[in-house]
Amino acid sequence: MQIFREIEPLKAFLKDQKGSMRSVGFVPTMGALHAGHLSIVRASQAENDLTVCSIYVNPTQFNNPDDLRKYPRAESADIAMLESVGCDVIFIPDNAQMYEDDPGVTLGFGELEKIMEGKFRPGHFSGVALVVGKLFHIVHPNRAYFGQKDWQQFAILSRFVKELKFDIALKWVPTVREHDGLAMSSRNARLNEEERARASSLYRALRKAEEMLKQGSTVSHVQTEIHAGLEERQITMEYLELVDSVNLNFLKNVKTSDNPMLCIAAYVGEVRLIDNLFIDNEN
Ligand code: AMP
Repeated sequence: MQIFREIEPLKAFLKDQKGSMRSVGFVPTMGALHAGHLSIVRASQAENDLTVCSIYVNPTQFNNPDDLRKYPRAESADIAMLESVGCDVIFIPDNAQMYEDDPGVTLGFGELEKIMEGKFRPGHFSGVALVVGKLFHIVHPNRAYFGQKDWQQFAILSRFVKELKFDIALKWVPTVREHDGLAMSSRNARLNEEERARASSLYRALRKAEEMLKQGSTVSHVQTEIHAGLEERQITMEYLELVDSVNLNFLKNVKTSDNPMLCIAAYVGEVRLIDNLFIDNEN
């Protein structure tokens, strides 16, 4: 496994590898890796000759300085985990590598970023696309891999790649969960024991909302009920939305789309967690 901390040596290495006709899969992360990240690495390994994983806590996607400061960092454990699954290349740049100057560029995504994460985290998707665009130019992957958990991010990056004509196929990998249903997240490390026990309520809320919608409840009734249920567990729901997973349009009910998805964001203590669920509307 090769570890690079600087852009130019990484580019030279990858240029050389591509000379021998190797396909490159890319997995961008912010580190504090868990089994969810590793399943993305495996998806890349299954389809590419060479897999590059980046670890970079990107400051421009944090609208809350406290969240950035408290974001878990675990570089040596991350390297050991990537080594254990046979990842080929790790890229661990610092801020000076990624942002030579203060970023003077912002990116907009219209309606796609006015809702859900975009509404509650202004500027977040501009920062995400900015860093992913930079990383794409550095790595030049054939395919890039993302998690279902950050679905709005995947939808926005798909738009970004299409609009800017990056010659890169974006792929998503299903959410990996803890035994009680909690979506794995680097942020879970910030939950204390008691918060961790309550955090699985998010997934249970999604399941309950799915059930209610399938039985004909309106979205607003479901939102009110779930909000109240979570409140009882001292969990503050920021949003619960039913959207079309392709264009992120809000849906009135599960029947009005072939791809309905429920998305939720909530605070457990000071930790903000997100999750989502594809709704099967077959019956
Ligand atoms: P992060 O390091 O949190 O920025 O995440 C890096 C990538 O891993 C993103 O594409 C996430 O969507 C993905 N990811 C995060 N958590 C999970 C999970 N539990 N299962 C699958 N993928 C995940």
